[in-house]
Amino acid sequence: MPELPDIVNYIEAARELTVGSPLTHITVHHPFLLRTVSPSPQECAGRIVTGIRRVGKQIVFELEGELFVAIHLMIAGRLVWAARAGSRKGTLAELAFSRGTMRLTEAGTKRRAALRILAGAEALTALDRGGVEPLECSTDEFAAALRRENRTLKRALTDPRLVSGIGNAYSDEILHAARLSPFLRTGALQDETMAHLHSAVRETLVTWTDRLRAERAGGFPTRVTAFHPAMGVHGRHGKPCPACGTAVQRIRYAENEANYCPRCQTDGRVYADRALSRLLKDDWPGTIEELERSVERPPLPPP
Ligand SMILES: [Zn+2]
Repeated sequence: MPELPDIVNYIEAARELTVGSPLTHITVHHPFLLRTVSPSPQECAGRIVTGIRRVGKQIVFELEGELFVAIHLMIAGRLVWAARAGSRKGTLAELAFSRGTMRLTEAGTKRRAALRILAGAEALTALDRGGVEPLECSTDEFAAALRRENRTLKRALTDPRLVSGIGNAYSDEILHAARLSPFLRTGALQDETMAHLHSAVRETLVTWTDRLRAERAGGFPTRVTAFHPAMGVHGRHGKPCPACGTAVQRIRYAENEANYCPRCQTDGRVYADRALSRLLKDDWPGTIEELERSVERPPLPPP
């Protein structure tokens, strides 16, 4: 799922291409995509784009006359900029502007991406799930948000009601950077640890936003993926941790996964993946030491 660094880059690129010019028309190819009835796409046609903002993981085009076009890419939705109009396979909708067309595509067969057209700024507040903005809030606000429910760090960071803009990929990277276990409970964290975690959040999100901006080199983002080769643990199950060389572990639950380094983050503890543990029964390793004996993995570098 595109998260804050990806969304910010989409917005920056789209802003340069569209703000100040009219949204010529919206073509919706798949009716399930459009989750609102009124205003209609036709009512947006010809209105000047006055701005683009992020609301959580959503991209919101602001049109003159207080109309808003909100796009939620969910997991597999992506935006593609084309100088010429014309849809391709997988295109759910097109937003045509004077300088080109932005296509909304979605890979796979699960239709989850959403387009909403809203009138008035009050309607826009309904999109906001209420989480703190991690780059704008104070550490006290961040800590208070995380402590609202006693949840694991992984779930708290990815809950849009608590923190805005963070999903599966960057929560893994943040927790690895902070050297904290994804399975720690937020209620058990001291103020000092919360401050340390908040700085890891800021540093990770800012570093990645900058990295993705450098990669697109002034153009529209083209390779938006949750599995970037420069990531430390996310999508790197079984590969060596870049900090210590230990094999990265993964737990999958529902459609989420937590990737972590057992040496850097969990005091050597390896947690059972339910599907895998059923398969392995009692053989599932409980510690890195057991893991070392049971799973082939690269050797540890010297300490
Ligand atoms: Zn490590």
